[in-house]
Order: sequence, then structure tokens, then C-alpha cells
Amino acid sequence: MLTAPPRLLLVHAHPDDESLWTGGTIARYAAAGVQVTLVTCTLGEVGEIIPESLAQLAADHADQLGGYRVGELRAACAALGVSDHRYLGGMGRWRDSGMVDTPANAHPRAFASGDLAAQVQELVAILRDVRPQVVVTYGPDGGYGHPDHVRAHEITAAAVAEVPDVERLYYTVVSRQAVDAGVAALAGVDGLPWRLPAPGELPAVDDAEITTSVAIGDHLPAKLRALRAHATQVSVWQAQDGTYSYALSNGVAQPVLEQECYTLAGGSGEAAETDVFGGLAPVEHVGADR
Ligand SMILES: [Zn+2]
Repeated sequence: MLTAPPRLLLVHAHPDDESLWTGGTIARYAAAGVQVTLVTCTLGEVGEIIPESLAQLAADHADQLGGYRVGELRAACAALGVSDHRYLGGMGRWRDSGMVDTPANAHPRAFASGDLAAQVQELVAILRDVRPQVVVTYGPDGGYGHPDHVRAHEITAAAVAEVPDVERLYYTVVSRQAVDAGVAALAGVDGLPWRLPAPGELPAVDDAEITTSVAIGDHLPAKLRALRAHATQVSVWQAQDGTYSYALSNGVAQPVLEQECYTLAGGSGEAAETDVFGGLAPVEHVGADR
């Protein structure tokens, strides 16, 4: 009897979401020998571009940002230890839909208004191939309301319901208590190049909603490398005293937290307080069964 490595599969909307929301978790489990599969639903074609030197890649100019971000995501996956990365439906099948009420919503390949059944079937095929015990995506609000994040939630919830091998479904969330403490710490740091967020500005949930808190302190170097790989979307900064912060194109300072948090949405939560696999039986298979 051999014991196969556990399998974790994450469904994210755009390149960078895997690192921003779950980068420490991916790095931690990959380092522990877990097989990590990342599914990215779009190429992030309409993201805002931070470096001036790359501004002409934008969707309303050369429209090359999606292809450029393929390279950023590849570098981030290498930093985090993702061994199996896939684009839903193949690279370029569905396009970044943009924020609510923007012209990108109407693009014929926009992910958020694409064929829901086809998207679910593409994900079901991946789940049947990989057979992960644990799946991670966003909650019903997409974490912060982006239409592609909401759609990623919808297709993942529907696909997981068709694949009994999946033992647990988690939503990635941010602890309000932790984010408030992190912002308070940033307020005392000299030279922060961005503005501090207003109270409640950063997406977060009440700690009562959190079932699982994964300690990622040992894996922050990998998470920060992955964030830096997404240079069109994310800027990382370190203070003289060692404190880290990062910002998206909106120039709002965000703290780098030592835990990534989850809400269990399906399956038994027994022994899952600090480990998304906690309490699950070891994975066993005989011979060349797969
Ligand atoms: Zn996103």
C-alpha cells in the first residue's frame, strides 16, 4: 500500500489572485509535498497597469496585457511551488470581464457572462482528472464583488457538487481583526509610499465566519516573490524596520499578514482549524491505480 500525496486545487479568476489571496497557503502545502493544482479562469486582460513602461500593453491600446501576464503568472507559480497550472478551457478561452459596469463586461468572450454550463463542465473535467480532496475558491460575493470572482465561485460550487472525490470546499477570506491590526501597524511605519486604507475599505470578514486559519509566516518570502512577479498589478515595499506592505494600482497600502483564512463551505470541519487537510484520512492507492 502506497500513500499518495494529498491534492489541493484552487480556482482563481485572474493571474495575481492566487498570490494575493492564497500565496502563503500554496507555498506552505507545496513545500510539505502536497500536489497543488491552480486553475486560472482568465488572463486578466483588463487589469490596470502600474509600471509606466508597460502602459501601452493595455486593452485599449496594444491589448497585449493578457499574454504578458501569462509570464507573470508562470513566475509566480514557480515562486510558490505550483506544479500543475491550468487555464480554464485552455489559455485565452474566457476573457477578463472588468469591474462592474465597465465596457469590458460586454466583450463576447467575457468570463462573467460566458456559457455557465460550459465553464462548469471544463472545471468538472479538471476535478475528475486531478481528484483533489480540498478545493479553494471565493465566497458567493467573490471576495470583493468583481464579476469574474463571483463567476469563479458559481462554477466551482456547481462543479464540486458533481465530483464526490472532493471532500472539502473552502472560501478564501481575510480576517477583519488581522487586517485591522496590520493596518494599525503600517500607520506607525516611516516612509510608506501609499495612503492607508479607510476603516472597512479593505475586504474582510468577521472572525466568527472563519473556520480555518493557516499560518504562513515561514512562507512569506515565497509569497512576496510571487507578488513581485505580478509587477503589472502589484507593488511590494519594505520599510527600514523590515515591515512589508504592498499595493495594487489604486495606491492603497495593504499589510502582509502571517495567516491566510478560510471559511469551510462543504465537508466536515473536524480538526480543520489550522490545516485545510486537518482530520482527513491519508490518501491511499494500490500499485499503478492511476
Ligand atoms: Zn481578480
